[in-house]
Amino acid sequence: MIAAMRGDQELGRRAADLAGRLPDALAPLARIAYNYRWCWYPGGTDVFRSIDEGRWERCGENPVRLLQEASGEALARAAADRALLDRVASLEDAFAADLRRPPAGLVAPERPIAFLCAEYGVHQSLPIYSGGLGALAGDLLKEASDRALPLVAVGLMYRQGYFRQRLDVSGWQQEYWIDTDPERLPAALVRSEDGRALRITVPIRGSEVSAQIWRGAVGRVPLFLLDADVPENGRLDRWITSQLYVADPVTRLSQYALLGVGGVRALAALGIEPALVHLNEGHAAFAVLELARAEVARGAPVEAALEAARQRTVFTTHTPVAAGNETYPREDVIGTIEDLAGELGDPEVLMRLGRYHPEDGQEPFGMTTFSLRMSRSANGVSRRHGAVAREMWRGLWPERALEAVPITHVTNGVHLPSWVGAPMRRLLDRHLGEDWRRQASDVATWEALDRVPDSELWAARREQRAELVEFVQERSGIDRLAERQPRAGIEAAARAFDPDVLTIGFARRTATYKRIGLLTHDPARTLALLAGPQRVQFVLAGKAHPSDEEGKRVVQEMFRFKDAPNVAEDVVYLHDYDLGMAARLVRGCDLWLNLPRPPMEASGTSGMKAVINGGLNLSTLDGWWAEAYDQTNGWALPGEVDPDHAAQDARDAATLFRTLEQEVVPAFYDRDADGLPHSWLDRIRASMRTLAPAFCAGRMLEDYLQRIYAPTETSA
Ligand SMILES: *Cc1c(COP(=O)(O)O)cnc(C)c1O
Repeated sequence: MIAAMRGDQELGRRAADLAGRLPDALAPLARIAYNYRWCWYPGGTDVFRSIDEGRWERCGENPVRLLQEASGEALARAAADRALLDRVASLEDAFAADLRRPPAGLVAPERPIAFLCAEYGVHQSLPIYSGGLGALAGDLLKEASDRALPLVAVGLMYRQGYFRQRLDVSGWQQEYWIDTDPERLPAALVRSEDGRALRITVPIRGSEVSAQIWRGAVGRVPLFLLDADVPENGRLDRWITSQLYVADPVTRLSQYALLGVGGVRALAALGIEPALVHLNEGHAAFAVLELARAEVARGAPVEAALEAARQRTVFTTHTPVAAGNETYPREDVIGTIEDLAGELGDPEVLMRLGRYHPEDGQEPFGMTTFSLRMSRSANGVSRRHGAVAREMWRGLWPERALEAVPITHVTNGVHLPSWVGAPMRRLLDRHLGEDWRRQASDVATWEALDRVPDSELWAARREQRAELVEFVQERSGIDRLAERQPRAGIEAAARAFDPDVLTIGFARRTATYKRIGLLTHDPARTLALLAGPQRVQFVLAGKAHPSDEEGKRVVQEMFRFKDAPNVAEDVVYLHDYDLGMAARLVRGCDLWLNLPRPPMEASGTSGMKAVINGGLNLSTLDGWWAEAYDQTNGWALPGEVDPDHAAQDARDAATLFRTLEQEVVPAFYDRDADGLPHSWLDRIRASMRTLAPAFCAGRMLEDYLQRIYAPTETSA
C-alpha cells in the first residue's frame, strides 16, 4: 500500500500551497481539487462552478486553475456562503469515508494491477485523450476506485494533448493545438528523497531518454504520467510527449517505447511491483520487453524470461479497423528499441513475434500481433468483437480451430455516476435508493424503475433536454461566428432548438466506417423529415483524424445543406467534441444514433451513456448493440456484413429513415390526455432495466477481475 501512495505527499504539498492563497474556510477545496474524485461525486462540479461560473468555463473546468485564478472577491464571497461550505464539508466527509474502505479482495494491495494505456479520458480538463479508448480507460479507473481495487495507471503527459477542432464556413475541419501547463493541472511531480524530481531513463534510438513522472489522482487510483519534456533531453526527444499519437511514425514508436518500457521502469522506480500488467490496446506492448529484461538481469535465460513476461501480461484489443492495428517497418522498430532488444538476444526473434507470418522478413512489425503473442490472455471489447478478432487473428494460431483461438471478450461498460445527469440521478436516488450506484450491475437494482411514475420520468427527461437546448443555443452561436457564417445563420442559432422537440444525437469520431453520411444519403428525405408536422432536431459533433481527408469531406458534404429550409434552426454541428460535450449530449438527447459499418464497431460506448439518462438507442447491430438489443429497448439496423458498401448504405439509410418516420417520431409524439408519451416512457424503462446493469463499468470490471486478472500465473 505504501508503494501505491508514491507521489501522495507531493500532491499534498501542492494542495497546501494552493490552500495558502484561499480564505481558511475554503482550504479543504484545494485538497478536493487535486483528486478527480470530485467529478463523479454528486455536487462536486457545482461547488467549483458556484465560486465563479464564467471563470470555471474559461478554465476548462479545471479546479486547480479556478482556485489559482479566482479573484479575491469571488473567493471571499464563496468563503461567506454557508450553503457552499456545507457542501464542501460533505464532499470532504464522503472522500474520507472512501479512503477508509479496505481494499477489495482478489488483488493484493502490495501487488496491484498495472494498467497501461496511451490515453486517459478522466475529465475534459486533463487533455490526454482522443476518444473512445481514453473514455473507456478513464471510466475503468473510476470504477476501480469505487470498488477499492488495487490498480495503478500509467500513461504519458502530453504537453499539447490531442488536437482541437474548428470548422470553417464550408464545413472543412481546421486543427490546432493548445499547450497544457502541467503546473496548473491537478497533478504533482514525483520527487526522490533529495527533493529533486524523480527520473527514469529509457534507451530509445540510441540515446538515454529521461522522463519525469507526474502523479495524478482518480479517487483511490494513482495515475502516473511520464513526461519527456525535461532539459537533459535533446529537442527531438522532448517532443516524444508532445502530442497524442504524433504523426511521425518514428516519433510515435518512441512514444510507445516510453509508455511501455518507461511505464514498467517508472513503477519499479516508485517501488511498485505489479502482479499483472494490463496492456489496454497495443501501444504499450513494449512493456513486455522490460519485464523480460528484468528477468534476464536476475539471471533467467532469455526464452524463460520472455515466457515469464508473457505470464504477467494481459491484453485488450479495441478495434478491428486496420489503422488502429498499427504496423511499422522492421528497421524503425529495431532502430527504436535496439539497446533493449540487444539485452534479449537476437532482435530478429522479437521481430518474428510481431509478424503475422513470422518468417516473412518483408512483413512489417504489428503492435497488435506482438501483443497477442506476448500476453497470457487477450480479449476484444464486445461479444461480436471477440468473434471478429478471432477471425482476424486466427492465422497466429494456425493449428487451432476458429473457436479455439485464444481471444475472448469483455464487453465494455461505462461509469454510470460520471455520465448520469443530475435530474435523472435525483429521480433514481428517490426510487431506487441512493445505493443504486454501488449495485448497478445487479439486475434487481433496476426493478424499481417499473414503479417510477410516468410524469416524474418525463419531467426528468424534459429537464435534461432543456439543459442541452440551452447549451446548443449558446455553443452553436459561437461556433457559427467562428465559422464566419453570414448573419442569418448566426441568428438562427439563437432560435435553434426547442426543449419540447424530439432531439436526436450523433457524436463520435467521423471515421468513414461510422457512416454519419447516412443522415444525408437521401437529402430530400432528410429535409422532408425536418419539414414534417412533428418536429425533430439534430445535434451532431465529432472530429476527423487530421490525416483523414475522407472523414473531413463527409462532414463538409453535410454543410452543403445549411441553407435548406429548417436546417439552420433544427440541425447543429458543434465544434470540438470532447468529454464535457459528450456528457451534455448523452444527457439531453432522446435518441442516440450509431451507424457503423458492420463489423467495424468493436463496442461503442456513447450509447451506454445515453441509456442511464433515459435516452434510447437506434443503432446498427454491431459492437455492444448486437448483444444488447432485444426488440423492446431501442431500435436496430441490420448487422450483416456486405462487401457492396454502396448497396448496403442505400439499404441502411432507407431503414434508418423508415424507422425514424414510422416508429421513433410517432412514438415520441403519441401523447395521452395527460400529455405524456406512455409507450415512449415504457421503452425508456425497458432500456434502462435491461441495459444499465449489463453495460455499466461495474459489470465490466467484475468480468476483468474474474475472467482476466484472477487466473493464476500458470493458466495460459
Ligand atoms: C464515450 C465517448 C466516445 C466513445 O463513443 P463511441 O460510441 O464509442 O463512438 C468518444 N469520445 C468521447 C468524448 C466520449 O465521451
